[in-house]
Amino acid sequence: MCGAALGVAYEVREMMRGTRERFHYRRCVECGCAQIADPPADLAAYYGDRYYSFAAARRGRWSGIAVRLRSARDLAYSPAAPAWARAMARVRPNPLVRCVGRCPGPRAGVLDVGAGDGRLLADLARLGFTQLLGVDPFASEDRGDPRGFSVLRRDVHGLDAAGWNVVVLSHSLAHMADPVSTLRRVAQLLAPTGTCIVRIPLAGSWAHRTYGADWVQHDAPRHLMVHTRRGLEIAAARAGMRIVEVEFDSSGFQFWGSELYRRGVPLVRVSRSRLYWDFPPWVLLRYARAARALNRNGDGDQATFYLRRAAPAAIAPSHSAPGGQG
Ligand SMILES: [Zn+2]
Repeated sequence: MCGAALGVAYEVREMMRGTRERFHYRRCVECGCAQIADPPADLAAYYGDRYYSFAAARRGRWSGIAVRLRSARDLAYSPAAPAWARAMARVRPNPLVRCVGRCPGPRAGVLDVGAGDGRLLADLARLGFTQLLGVDPFASEDRGDPRGFSVLRRDVHGLDAAGWNVVVLSHSLAHMADPVSTLRRVAQLLAPTGTCIVRIPLAGSWAHRTYGADWVQHDAPRHLMVHTRRGLEIAAARAGMRIVEVEFDSSGFQFWGSELYRRGVPLVRVSRSRLYWDFPPWVLLRYARAARALNRNGDGDQATFYLRRAAPAAIAPSHSAPGGQG
């Protein structure tokens, strides 16, 4: 990302699906980003239909209940939210909906880059947001959703429509081989006063330092580059944007997910009973408290960054490369 030298390689196993294949990562000596040294030739094979961003449509009979619960929760973000809905959102907020909601400008024109099954867009549509679009190179096909948005099978370079008020990259930048060219394209697609929301796992955070190769958000080999705050600052500047705000939003997942990997248990194979046996409610509460403390100290293992376009004079001449991989 910043062009500096890379340090010594270390081994990380593929543990989400549990193939246990070994990949190597090297960290930048300057900005601390962790970069995969030996990406697989066919990355799509590591997504597949079990990947969590695409899993919502196949949750069977529980999905209806989950959707209703989430709709009730999201009510809290509407202007006329009843008190019970606001209380519920405090207990279990949808972090991304809140992030989009606090961006200035109209409640229209939201582009989700790496949209998966369109979960965020569906939530936003329910709250009255309009002009919603998702792109995801790992989607199976272009798909129009009856709830009022589309998810297109392509990356951000394959998109011409500009003037977006909000562009969201939620846990998608780490999957991209050339994040600077992606951010540069996003800067071009943003309205002059628009906001780019980047949520990423953070290399060098407490969980990464503590769990090392077993850190759950390493997610080899899908995460081609795990960034740092410094690395994103550099990338944003090169793309003609600047970071205006940072919110650390790590959760108890950094503890229980990494503990599972340390014990050799893949994320998708763990049964619900095993999960509750290993991590009973009081343990999960302790993890959640510890995550909040890490976030307060700026050491949580993920954060949300709000980017704006730099002053027009500072924007570098456009030379984005269409066809870059997302
Ligand atoms: Zn670097």
